[in-house]
Amino acid sequence: MITLAQLNAASQAEFTQLLDGTYEHSPWIAAQAWERRPFTSLAQLKLALVDAVRQAPPEAQLALIRAHPELAGKAMPGKTLTAESTHEQGKAGLSDCTPAEFARIHQLNAGYNARFGFPFILAVRGPRGLGLAKPEIIATFARRLDNHPDFELAEALRNIHRIAEIRLNDKLGHSPDLGNRVWDWAEQLSAHSDAGYAERGELTVTYLTEAHQACARQLAQWMRDDCGFDEVSIDAVGNVVGLYHGSPSQDRQARRLLTGSHYDTVRNGGKYDGRLGIFVPMACVRELQRQGRRLPFGIEVVGFAEEEGQRFKATFLGSGALTGQFDAAWLDQQDAGGITMREAMAQAGLRIDDIAKLQRDPARYLGFVEVHIEQGPVLNALDLPLGIVSSINGSVRYVGEIIGMASHAGTTPMPGRRDAATAAAELALYVEKRGGSEEHLVATVGMLEVPGGSINVVPGRCKFSLDIRATTNAVRDACAADIVHELQALCQRRGLHYRLEETMRAAAAPSAPDWQQRWERAVESLGLPVFRLPSGAGHDAMKLHEIMPQAMLFVRGLNAGISHNPLEAITNDDAELCVRAFQNLLDQLATEFS
Ligand SMILES: [Zn+2]
Repeated sequence: MITLAQLNAASQAEFTQLLDGTYEHSPWIAAQAWERRPFTSLAQLKLALVDAVRQAPPEAQLALIRAHPELAGKAMPGKTLTAESTHEQGKAGLSDCTPAEFARIHQLNAGYNARFGFPFILAVRGPRGLGLAKPEIIATFARRLDNHPDFELAEALRNIHRIAEIRLNDKLGHSPDLGNRVWDWAEQLSAHSDAGYAERGELTVTYLTEAHQACARQLAQWMRDDCGFDEVSIDAVGNVVGLYHGSPSQDRQARRLLTGSHYDTVRNGGKYDGRLGIFVPMACVRELQRQGRRLPFGIEVVGFAEEEGQRFKATFLGSGALTGQFDAAWLDQQDAGGITMREAMAQAGLRIDDIAKLQRDPARYLGFVEVHIEQGPVLNALDLPLGIVSSINGSVRYVGEIIGMASHAGTTPMPGRRDAATAAAELALYVEKRGGSEEHLVATVGMLEVPGGSINVVPGRCKFSLDIRATTNAVRDACAADIVHELQALCQRRGLHYRLEETMRAAAAPSAPDWQQRWERAVESLGLPVFRLPSGAGHDAMKLHEIMPQAMLFVRGLNAGISHNPLEAITNDDAELCVRAFQNLLDQLATEFS
């Protein structure tokens, strides 16, 4: 076992020797990281090693990748692998593949090498460090064969960093126990899935289904029995609410920190979207309780029952109830099976009459914080575990239709055509250009359709959607105005007309500066750089934003940050850093409010 102090005191040669084998056959990485010592944390050391690779010329990066053995390759029977590789591949069961599995892996190895010119690299010990199952390894291999070469090279390097991270944990005797706790909760909660999806191994938990209610009971049980919350309840809309009293514990009027996120999912979604923001503060309360420690404020953790709007059209129903925005008209909405929300709530034993009482008095709260998986590729691409949200983007959505004239594709001359689809295409190109014209602005035409189109007919109509998001309402609105102007202009020029309907508008929710700074200090306390980014997706925090200060912390997602997808993933090490950041935030608040 080696220690950080030992590494900090080491000469460059000793340092490189101590970290030998962390990066396969590449001592230059440790030698360069040495320049950045002293390290205040293991996370900081890991990042210095990552940076050495990031700053290396492309040839050095490629040589690093090529220094790795093929997965279950010829080196395996020949026993020429490094000790680390043998151990890792063995742990993943690759040393005892069936002949069919070996054949499949060899075929994939050959295809991969031909396409990319380097061996397939996968951190086979996986995001929890316990080893991936063979079918998962083979599926990942097959999937990554389709990646663009630039992206795949970066993905190979990311896997190398993950391999190094686990090797470093072993070398320094570091076990991310808090992260493991969070990771395992996410895994266990994902056992509950709606009928029709569970059978296919897919995760779908929509509002008030059996699986949804099972999740609520499970969360409540963990909060009560495992974490030691003082009061745990399931409220009138199905939110799971855990309260850990402040000190002195008899003072029920003490102010509270409000935190949490949602436990419902999209169809065939991921295990961390929303849920991570419940588990992380749960892990913090569990530690406080184990230490017998009370803070000078209460902690209220809410697992919001509904955020995604999957079963009924209502979204942010859970957090909306806390801000007094539960719309009684929602109760008559029907799901696909004709069951109204009112019926679903009654069946679940929820007391509709009590919903109004869920509205929180902001004077009772310090503020709201939410931890969430990023659901985007930014942190993953930058090799950063945590990012601080500067603002939840404002958004506006439209559906529209361009109307031209349908005519015969053979007999209508090119000049004078009134083609609605090419006009929509021109609009989409403008949207792309305008969306790319400013930082933190995005604009997307996500749906394009020629209704009743035919191969031999000039399109007479074309339907489209438009989604615009930006850090501020002003930037969003200026973009929308330009796009509408362009639509008018191109329709006039082409002799067409259009309809456009605004279907959704949400205000931007910039983080409260003092709360954002608390997250920044928390991230810094871990030895990590402060990186700020806007949230392109909506979150429960944007609801709470309307009544109290809020700020969010993002955690890196693997697989290019994919979300609303079963490939959504985080590592136990990142979960650990996230819990530690949250603990630091609590400590800051304890000092400020003592
Ligand atoms: Zn979410």
